[in-house]
Amino acid sequence: MRQLLSNWVLASAIFSCVSSVLYADEAADPATVPFPVLDRGVPKSMGQFPYLVPLTNQKSDWPPLFKTPKTLPNETPKSKTSLEISAMDALPAPPKIAVVIDDVGYNRRGMEESLALPLPVVLAILPETPYGARTAQRAHLQERITILHAPMENERELKLGPGGLYVNMDEQTFKQTLYDDLDSTPYVTGVNNHMGSLLTTHSEHMGWVMDIMAERSLFFIDSLTSPKSVAYKTAVERGVRTVTRDIFLDNVRSEEAISKQFERLLKRAHKQGSAIAIGHPYPETTRFLKRRLNQPLSAQLVTIDTLLQ
Ligand SMILES: [Zn+2]
Repeated sequence: MRQLLSNWVLASAIFSCVSSVLYADEAADPATVPFPVLDRGVPKSMGQFPYLVPLTNQKSDWPPLFKTPKTLPNETPKSKTSLEISAMDALPAPPKIAVVIDDVGYNRRGMEESLALPLPVVLAILPETPYGARTAQRAHLQERITILHAPMENERELKLGPGGLYVNMDEQTFKQTLYDDLDSTPYVTGVNNHMGSLLTTHSEHMGWVMDIMAERSLFFIDSLTSPKSVAYKTAVERGVRTVTRDIFLDNVRSEEAISKQFERLLKRAHKQGSAIAIGHPYPETTRFLKRRLNQPLSAQLVTIDTLLQ
Protein backbone atom coordinates (compact mmCIF):
# COMPACT_ATOMS: atom_id res chain seq x y z
CA MET A 1 0.00 0.00 0.00
CA ARG A 2 2.82 2.38 0.95
CA GLN A 3 4.55 1.50 -2.36
CA LEU A 4 1.31 2.25 -4.28
CA LEU A 5 0.88 5.57 -2.50
CA SER A 6 4.43 6.72 -3.20
CA ASN A 7 4.08 5.76 -6.92
CA TRP A 8 0.90 7.85 -7.09
CA VAL A 9 2.59 10.86 -5.47
CA LEU A 10 5.47 10.59 -7.89
CA ALA A 11 3.14 10.27 -10.91
CA SER A 12 1.05 13.28 -9.89
CA ALA A 13 4.18 15.34 -9.29
CA ILE A 14 5.48 14.53 -12.79
CA PHE A 15 2.04 15.35 -14.31
CA SER A 16 1.82 18.70 -12.56
CA CYS A 17 5.36 19.58 -13.58
CA VAL A 18 4.78 18.74 -17.28
CA SER A 19 1.38 20.47 -17.38
CA SER A 20 2.79 23.60 -15.76
CA VAL A 21 5.41 23.75 -18.52
CA LEU A 22 2.86 23.11 -21.27
CA TYR A 23 0.07 25.42 -20.15
CA ALA A 24 1.72 28.14 -18.14
CA ASP A 25 1.12 30.58 -21.05
CA GLU A 26 -2.63 30.61 -20.39
CA ALA A 27 -2.07 32.45 -17.14
CA ALA A 28 0.81 34.61 -18.29
CA ASP A 29 0.54 38.16 -19.57
CA PRO A 30 0.64 37.77 -23.39
CA ALA A 31 3.01 40.72 -23.69
CA THR A 32 5.60 39.01 -21.55
CA VAL A 33 5.47 35.56 -23.14
CA PRO A 34 8.52 34.87 -25.27
CA PHE A 35 7.99 33.91 -28.91
CA PRO A 36 7.84 30.14 -29.44
CA VAL A 37 10.92 28.85 -31.16
CA LEU A 38 12.03 25.75 -32.94
CA ASP A 39 15.12 23.88 -31.99
CA ARG A 40 18.00 26.34 -31.48
CA GLY A 41 20.11 23.86 -29.59
CA VAL A 42 19.17 22.07 -26.44
CA PRO A 43 19.82 23.79 -23.15
CA LYS A 44 21.52 21.45 -20.73
CA SER A 45 18.73 21.62 -18.17
CA MET A 46 16.03 20.54 -20.66
CA GLY A 47 17.75 17.41 -21.97
CA GLN A 48 14.98 15.33 -23.49
CA PHE A 49 12.60 18.22 -24.44
CA PRO A 50 14.46 20.00 -27.24
CA TYR A 51 11.31 21.61 -28.73
CA LEU A 52 9.89 22.99 -25.56
CA VAL A 53 10.37 26.65 -24.88
CA PRO A 54 10.32 28.38 -21.51
CA LEU A 55 6.86 29.90 -21.18
CA THR A 56 7.33 31.80 -17.97
CA ASN A 57 9.45 34.81 -17.13
CA GLN A 58 11.67 32.73 -14.95
CA LYS A 59 15.31 33.03 -15.85
CA SER A 60 16.28 30.32 -18.31
CA ASP A 61 19.56 29.41 -19.90
CA TRP A 62 18.15 29.80 -23.42
CA PRO A 63 19.97 32.46 -25.38
CA PRO A 64 17.79 35.56 -25.92
CA LEU A 65 15.88 35.56 -29.19
CA PHE A 66 16.04 39.28 -29.85
CA LYS A 67 17.74 42.19 -28.24
CA THR A 68 15.01 44.47 -27.03
CA PRO A 69 15.43 47.84 -28.82
CA LYS A 70 15.51 50.91 -26.54
CA THR A 71 12.88 52.56 -28.77
CA LEU A 72 10.70 50.94 -31.40
CA PRO A 73 11.68 51.79 -35.00
CA ASN A 74 8.63 54.00 -35.63
CA GLU A 75 8.90 55.74 -32.32
CA THR A 76 10.41 59.24 -32.41
CA PRO A 77 13.11 59.98 -29.84
CA LYS A 78 11.86 61.43 -26.64
CA SER A 79 11.32 65.14 -27.20
CA LYS A 80 12.79 67.72 -24.87
CA THR A 81 10.59 69.20 -22.23
CA SER A 82 9.66 72.88 -22.55
CA LEU A 83 11.84 73.55 -19.51
CA GLU A 84 14.89 72.03 -21.25
CA ILE A 85 14.19 74.01 -24.46
CA SER A 86 13.85 77.34 -22.67
CA ALA A 87 17.09 76.64 -20.77
CA MET A 88 18.89 76.06 -24.10
CA ASP A 89 17.38 79.21 -25.63
CA ALA A 90 18.64 81.24 -22.71
CA LEU A 91 22.27 80.37 -23.49
CA PRO A 92 23.80 83.06 -25.75
CA ALA A 93 25.40 81.71 -28.96
CA PRO A 94 29.20 81.98 -28.70
CA PRO A 95 30.88 84.50 -31.00
CA LYS A 96 32.54 82.95 -34.05
CA ILE A 97 35.95 83.41 -35.60
CA ALA A 98 37.30 82.16 -38.93
CA VAL A 99 40.94 82.10 -40.01
CA VAL A 100 42.29 82.16 -43.57
CA ILE A 101 45.94 81.48 -44.47
CA ASP A 102 46.83 83.43 -47.64
CA ASP A 103 49.74 82.99 -50.08
CA VAL A 104 49.92 79.19 -49.82
CA GLY A 105 51.65 77.37 -52.71
CA TYR A 106 55.21 78.69 -53.01
CA ASN A 107 57.02 76.35 -50.63
CA ARG A 108 56.78 72.92 -49.05
CA ARG A 109 57.22 74.15 -45.48
CA GLY A 110 54.30 76.55 -45.86
CA MET A 111 52.18 73.73 -47.28
CA GLU A 112 53.00 71.28 -44.49
CA GLU A 113 52.55 73.81 -41.68
CA SER A 114 49.27 75.11 -43.09
CA LEU A 115 47.88 71.59 -43.51
CA ALA A 116 48.79 70.88 -39.85
CA LEU A 117 46.51 73.70 -38.58
CA PRO A 118 43.03 72.84 -37.20
CA LEU A 119 40.64 71.82 -39.98
CA PRO A 120 38.33 74.88 -39.90
CA VAL A 121 41.31 77.03 -41.00
CA VAL A 122 40.85 77.83 -44.70
CA LEU A 123 43.83 77.85 -47.09
CA ALA A 124 43.98 80.48 -49.86
CA ILE A 125 46.17 79.08 -52.64
CA LEU A 126 48.08 81.10 -55.24
CA PRO A 127 47.54 79.84 -58.83
CA GLU A 128 50.23 78.06 -60.84
CA THR A 129 52.63 77.81 -57.90
CA PRO A 130 54.96 74.83 -57.24
CA TYR A 131 52.89 73.44 -54.34
CA GLY A 132 49.48 75.00 -55.09
CA ALA A 133 47.69 72.05 -56.72
CA ARG A 134 49.28 69.58 -54.28
CA THR A 135 48.11 71.63 -51.29
CA ALA A 136 44.59 71.78 -52.75
CA GLN A 137 44.50 68.00 -53.24
CA ARG A 138 45.79 67.22 -49.75
CA ALA A 139 43.43 69.74 -48.16
CA HIS A 140 40.56 68.13 -50.06
CA LEU A 141 41.48 64.74 -48.56
CA GLN A 142 41.37 66.38 -45.12
CA GLU A 143 37.89 67.80 -46.00
CA ARG A 144 39.35 71.28 -45.46
CA ILE A 145 38.00 74.30 -47.38
CA THR A 146 40.40 75.87 -49.88
CA ILE A 147 39.98 79.01 -51.96
CA LEU A 148 41.85 80.54 -54.90
CA HIS A 149 44.04 83.47 -53.82
CA ALA A 150 43.58 85.45 -57.03
CA PRO A 151 46.48 87.89 -57.64
CA MET A 152 45.10 91.38 -58.37
CA GLU A 153 46.91 94.58 -59.34
CA ASN A 154 48.05 96.77 -56.45
CA GLU A 155 48.81 100.47 -56.21
CA ARG A 156 52.48 99.94 -55.38
CA GLU A 157 53.24 98.02 -58.59
CA LEU A 158 54.40 94.99 -56.63
CA LYS A 159 54.87 91.86 -58.74
CA LEU A 160 51.83 89.58 -58.81
CA GLY A 161 53.41 86.36 -60.12
CA PRO A 162 51.57 83.96 -62.46
CA GLY A 163 47.85 84.38 -63.10
CA GLY A 164 47.78 88.11 -62.21
CA LEU A 165 44.69 90.18 -63.02
CA TYR A 166 45.34 93.76 -64.21
CA VAL A 167 43.24 96.86 -64.77
CA ASN A 168 44.44 97.25 -68.39
CA MET A 169 43.21 93.76 -69.43
CA ASP A 170 40.19 93.55 -71.74
CA GLU A 171 37.20 91.56 -70.52
CA GLN A 172 38.03 88.42 -72.47
CA THR A 173 41.69 88.28 -71.38
CA PHE A 174 40.74 89.12 -67.81
CA LYS A 175 38.09 86.39 -67.58
CA GLN A 176 40.27 83.79 -69.34
CA THR A 177 43.08 84.49 -66.85
CA LEU A 178 40.71 83.97 -63.91
CA TYR A 179 39.34 80.74 -65.46
CA ASP A 180 42.93 79.47 -65.88
CA ASP A 181 43.73 80.40 -62.26
CA LEU A 182 40.69 78.46 -61.05
CA ASP A 183 41.49 75.46 -63.23
CA SER A 184 45.05 75.30 -61.85
CA THR A 185 43.70 74.98 -58.31
CA PRO A 186 41.37 71.98 -57.91
CA TYR A 187 38.52 71.73 -55.35
CA VAL A 188 38.40 75.44 -54.44
CA THR A 189 34.97 76.61 -53.30
CA GLY A 190 35.70 80.34 -53.18
CA VAL A 191 38.14 83.13 -54.04
CA ASN A 192 39.85 85.98 -52.21
CA ASN A 193 42.17 88.66 -53.50
CA HIS A 194 45.97 88.62 -53.24
CA MET A 195 46.99 92.30 -52.99
CA GLY A 196 44.46 94.08 -55.25
CA SER A 197 44.55 97.55 -53.68
CA LEU A 198 44.08 98.96 -57.20
CA LEU A 199 41.92 96.38 -58.97
CA THR A 200 39.36 95.95 -56.16
CA THR A 201 38.48 99.66 -56.48
CA HIS A 202 37.34 99.15 -60.10
CA SER A 203 33.64 98.29 -60.33
CA GLU A 204 33.78 96.97 -63.89
CA HIS A 205 36.59 94.48 -63.16
CA MET A 206 34.96 93.38 -59.92
CA GLY A 207 31.80 92.81 -61.95
CA TRP A 208 33.73 90.45 -64.25
CA VAL A 209 35.09 88.60 -61.20
CA MET A 210 31.61 88.22 -59.73
CA ASP A 211 30.19 87.01 -63.09
CA ILE A 212 32.54 84.02 -62.82
CA MET A 213 31.84 83.55 -59.10
CA ALA A 214 28.10 83.34 -59.87
CA GLU A 215 28.64 81.09 -62.89
CA ARG A 216 30.73 78.60 -60.86
CA SER A 217 28.80 78.96 -57.57
CA LEU A 218 31.88 80.25 -55.76
CA PHE A 219 31.95 82.69 -52.82
CA PHE A 220 34.20 85.75 -52.58
CA ILE A 221 36.09 87.00 -49.52
CA ASP A 222 37.18 90.63 -49.80
CA SER A 223 40.66 90.71 -48.24
CA LEU A 224 40.06 94.47 -47.97
CA THR A 225 43.50 95.65 -49.05
CA SER A 226 42.03 99.07 -49.85
CA PRO A 227 39.43 101.02 -47.88
CA LYS A 228 37.97 101.97 -51.28
CA SER A 229 37.39 98.31 -52.32
CA VAL A 230 34.08 97.71 -54.08
CA ALA A 231 34.46 93.91 -54.11
CA TYR A 232 31.99 93.23 -51.28
CA LYS A 233 29.38 95.65 -52.67
CA THR A 234 29.68 94.22 -56.18
CA ALA A 235 29.38 90.65 -54.88
CA VAL A 236 26.20 91.53 -52.97
CA GLU A 237 24.74 93.24 -56.05
CA ARG A 238 25.39 90.12 -58.18
CA GLY A 239 24.01 87.71 -55.59
CA VAL A 240 27.43 86.20 -54.82
CA ARG A 241 27.89 84.99 -51.23
CA THR A 242 30.54 87.18 -49.63
CA VAL A 243 32.19 88.52 -46.49
CA THR A 244 35.06 90.91 -45.66
CA ARG A 245 38.25 90.42 -43.69
CA ASP A 246 38.42 92.00 -40.21
CA ILE A 247 41.99 91.52 -38.98
CA PHE A 248 45.37 90.88 -40.57
CA LEU A 249 47.25 88.75 -38.06
CA ASP A 250 50.85 89.12 -39.14
CA ASN A 251 51.63 92.49 -40.74
CA VAL A 252 54.34 92.47 -38.06
CA ARG A 253 56.03 89.08 -38.03
CA SER A 254 56.64 88.50 -34.31
CA GLU A 255 54.68 86.14 -32.05
CA GLU A 256 54.02 89.02 -29.67
CA ALA A 257 52.47 91.15 -32.42
CA ILE A 258 50.52 88.18 -33.82
CA SER A 259 49.21 87.37 -30.36
CA LYS A 260 48.00 90.97 -29.92
CA GLN A 261 46.22 90.81 -33.28
CA PHE A 262 44.59 87.52 -32.33
CA GLU A 263 43.22 89.08 -29.12
CA ARG A 264 41.86 91.95 -31.28
CA LEU A 265 40.15 89.31 -33.44
CA LEU A 266 38.44 87.79 -30.38
CA LYS A 267 37.36 91.24 -29.17
CA ARG A 268 35.93 92.06 -32.60
CA ALA A 269 34.05 88.74 -32.64
CA HIS A 270 32.50 89.51 -29.24
CA LYS A 271 31.45 92.94 -30.50
CA GLN A 272 30.10 91.88 -33.91
CA GLY A 273 29.12 88.25 -33.28
CA SER A 274 31.80 87.02 -35.68
CA ALA A 275 35.16 88.11 -37.10
CA ILE A 276 37.54 86.95 -39.83
CA ALA A 277 41.34 86.93 -39.69
CA ILE A 278 43.85 86.55 -42.47
CA GLY A 279 47.39 85.33 -41.82
CA HIS A 280 50.27 83.98 -43.90
CA PRO A 281 52.25 80.73 -43.80
CA TYR A 282 55.14 82.36 -41.92
CA PRO A 283 56.73 80.11 -39.28
CA GLU A 284 55.80 82.69 -36.58
CA THR A 285 52.14 82.66 -37.63
CA THR A 286 51.67 78.91 -38.06
CA ARG A 287 53.51 78.19 -34.78
CA PHE A 288 51.32 80.69 -32.92
CA LEU A 289 48.04 79.49 -34.48
CA LYS A 290 48.82 75.82 -33.93
CA ARG A 291 49.28 76.48 -30.23
CA ARG A 292 46.57 79.11 -29.69
CA LEU A 293 43.76 77.48 -31.69
CA ASN A 294 44.18 74.30 -29.66
CA GLN A 295 43.78 76.18 -26.38
CA PRO A 296 40.38 77.12 -24.92
CA LEU A 297 38.98 80.12 -26.84
CA SER A 298 36.31 82.63 -25.90
CA ALA A 299 34.93 82.26 -29.44
CA GLN A 300 34.14 79.29 -31.63
CA LEU A 301 36.50 78.58 -34.54
CA VAL A 302 34.31 77.95 -37.60
CA THR A 303 34.83 77.46 -41.33
CA ILE A 304 34.41 80.66 -43.29
CA ASP A 305 31.49 79.40 -45.37
CA THR A 306 29.31 79.61 -42.24
CA LEU A 307 29.92 83.38 -42.02
CA LEU A 308 29.04 84.30 -45.60
CA GLN A 309 26.30 86.84 -46.28
ZN1 LIG B 1 48.30 87.42 -50.66
